[in-house]
Amino acid sequence: MRSIGHFIGGKHVKGTSGRFADVFEPMTGEVQAQVALASKAETRAAIENAKAAQPDWAATNPQRRTRVLMKFLELVARDNDAMAELLAREHGKTIPDAKGDILRGVEVVEFALGIPHLMKGEYTEGAGPGIDLYSMRQPLGVVAGITPFNFPAMIPMWKFAPAIACGNAFILKPSERDPGVPMKLAELMLEAGLPPGILNVVNGDKESVDAILDDRDIAAVGFVGSSSIAQYIYERAAATGKRAQCFGGAKNHMIIMPDADMDQSVDALIGAGYGAAGERCMAVSVAVPVGKTTADRLMEKLIPRVESLKIGLSTDPTADYGPLVTKAALERVKDYVEIGIKEGAKLAVDGRGFKMQGYEKGFYMGGCLFDNVTKDMRIYKEEIFGPVLSVVRAKDFDEAVALPSDHEYGNGVAIFTRDGDAAREFAAKVNVGMVGINVPIPVPVAYYTFGGWKRSGFGDLNQYGPDSVRFYTKTKTVTSRWPSGVKEGADFSIPTS
Ligand code: NAD
Repeated sequence: MRSIGHFIGGKHVKGTSGRFADVFEPMTGEVQAQVALASKAETRAAIENAKAAQPDWAATNPQRRTRVLMKFLELVARDNDAMAELLAREHGKTIPDAKGDILRGVEVVEFALGIPHLMKGEYTEGAGPGIDLYSMRQPLGVVAGITPFNFPAMIPMWKFAPAIACGNAFILKPSERDPGVPMKLAELMLEAGLPPGILNVVNGDKESVDAILDDRDIAAVGFVGSSSIAQYIYERAAATGKRAQCFGGAKNHMIIMPDADMDQSVDALIGAGYGAAGERCMAVSVAVPVGKTTADRLMEKLIPRVESLKIGLSTDPTADYGPLVTKAALERVKDYVEIGIKEGAKLAVDGRGFKMQGYEKGFYMGGCLFDNVTKDMRIYKEEIFGPVLSVVRAKDFDEAVALPSDHEYGNGVAIFTRDGDAAREFAAKVNVGMVGINVPIPVPVAYYTFGGWKRSGFGDLNQYGPDSVRFYTKTKTVTSRWPSGVKEGADFSIPTS
């Protein structure tokens, strides 16, 4: 069986804590590897390594730094197929979806190639007599990223590529459920020419996370995961004065207006609701048809599509989606379906009984569809993170806008309509961070930024795009007077311009 340790100072090192976690292969249900869980001391060793390597990296000119990322892109392309298969075997998503996971990370690496331009400072000549001002952006030092299981390639790249391009050293603490691909990414960065110690991978659980949060040599923490942990990390990181940006869970609504193209809307709901078995932070988990006729038309088309979803092996390229990540995740989703039934929602499609022939121990679940879900139900209020779509019927546009706006999560939202007026008003009014208009998963391209509102995001800067440069650098402002011989005499009042 594979044994996965840590990657510190450019080397694979074995775990010494004596603690391990099982890594499953969701499509068979078998344990395929064991991953070491780092102790506080092992985490500290990685931080010390990063701290020692960082000054030279910061002193390397920005263009040389990004050349390493350029080479890394070539290596990711070279190893893409093998990495996608490893990802699918550890996570459970299908190989085409795993390739998408890698590619959305690659897009942020491509964005990071332009970071030398974004790191440029400002300059003002003659802000006062003989006085010039300039500002510069400098790296923070050692920064950390704590990432979730559901995008084991994309989210680590979202974090480490901009941070490293800005001149920081990075500690990555990936999910213990699918650690293979993050490890591979670190190996490729080394092969691309990154100096040892600039990207370290510490595998672990709460113990290593707490060690990162409490360590005064870590200047910033980027987290992605569930909201309760996001809030915990945000608060604990602040206690030692770190910068923190912590992205949490979601309940993404898709509004279907009476004039929407119903076939297009149903296609969008099927893909965005059930793709990756619903294990996406931008998955649509709530459909909101506006008006009874729209709702009835939607259900008529949606039910047969959910019933005919093709659930398959992660390695089956024709499957719509594969298994969930672990048995615990599967049981949790099934429990939510039971809760929904008890709460009085109508289970229009029940996929709980699905079994994959020959792979009965795999973590599979058929698509479930609830109708007549209401705002007070737990299946509406809480993130299920599985192949379960809830239909909440709204009587009019105002009620449809209020639903996602009043929800405690505010990650993504979509509206399907042919009415430009309604779409424009919706985008302006809705209290959610990322909006799609006839686009079901509105993940912004790499040169914008990604971030949810309310309990979907703690902190004031988004991930990737220009915000990532703001997050991973600090601004220094220099006020200088030349010629230095200008004499004005002592002045006891505050200098003004
Ligand atoms: P999770 O919160 O269980 O774990 C995320 C990370 O936190 C992992 O590295 C894990 O090891 C660590 N962790 C877990 N428990 C901890 C604890 N008690 N103390 C310290 N660290 C702890 O999340 P997950 O199940 O891996 O991922 C799914 C969640 O991530 C969903 O809620 C999903 O919506 C969210 N997500 C959000 C975004 C976003 O950008 N908003 C993107 C992807 C996923």
